[in-house]
Amino acid sequence: MSSPARFFLEGTHAVGDVVALDASDARKIATVLRMRDGDEIEAIDSSSTRYRATVHLDGAAVGARLIEALAARPASRLRVVVAQGIPKGQKMDFVVEKLTELGAAEIVPLRSARAVADASPAKIERWRRLARSAAMQCGRADVPVVAEPTDVDGLAARCGSFDLVLVPWESADPAPLRDILPGLLAGAAGVLIVIGPEGGFAQDEVAALRAVGAHAVSLGGRILRTETAGLAMLAMLDYAMG
Ligand code: SAH
Repeated sequence: MSSPARFFLEGTHAVGDVVALDASDARKIATVLRMRDGDEIEAIDSSSTRYRATVHLDGAAVGARLIEALAARPASRLRVVVAQGIPKGQKMDFVVEKLTELGAAEIVPLRSARAVADASPAKIERWRRLARSAAMQCGRADVPVVAEPTDVDGLAARCGSFDLVLVPWESADPAPLRDILPGLLAGAAGVLIVIGPEGGFAQDEVAALRAVGAHAVSLGGRILRTETAGLAMLAMLDYAMG
């Protein structure tokens, strides 16, 4: 049997509650899935508690009735935030989707000297919606935060709150990650990865991040596209953390 459709709830709730679903989820339940009152779903509240739940139809209103709390899935040991140089066109859609699947806790759209694209409020809203639907699709118990855009200075100011900051940079010392990652990750709980845009980072941007403790690392001899670099890095972190 396939697992029940999964929906995120605003706020924290308890067994017995009937919680209104947001408009797009309500529409999905009523018109796409054509579910009926009492059909089984899974609901996840903002504290990441998962519930077995049923659809609660009351006129036009669609809610979830929380039946029982389900066992928590073990959370990843590493909290990974990815700052992504804002790419052109629709590429960030792909980045948000893949980073969500790969477990990023937060995605920060990064303005930088050589980025030609910017993030409009409409785009940010779109990325937040995509993060939510990708989280639902892949079975995560949380939705990654899509932060307000920042620049390298803004990011540098946050670096102190991470145990490790990695800046994949094609001009970095080509030490294999396989050799250096285990040492860098030892004891780390919060990691920030900073990916440049299509045009790459300017020297002084890498210098500014290094000045606050970031490690510039090589992803090998091939230049990856900006939308590939973050997902390659996350897959490697996942592997390194077992
Ligand atoms: N403009 C640069 C490439 C930018 S690639 C050039 O043409 O030379 C976009 C981003 O992906 C880079 O800023 C970097 O963060 C990452 N990246 C791509 N390939 C990489 C590699 N081999 N090693 C480290 N980082 C890489």
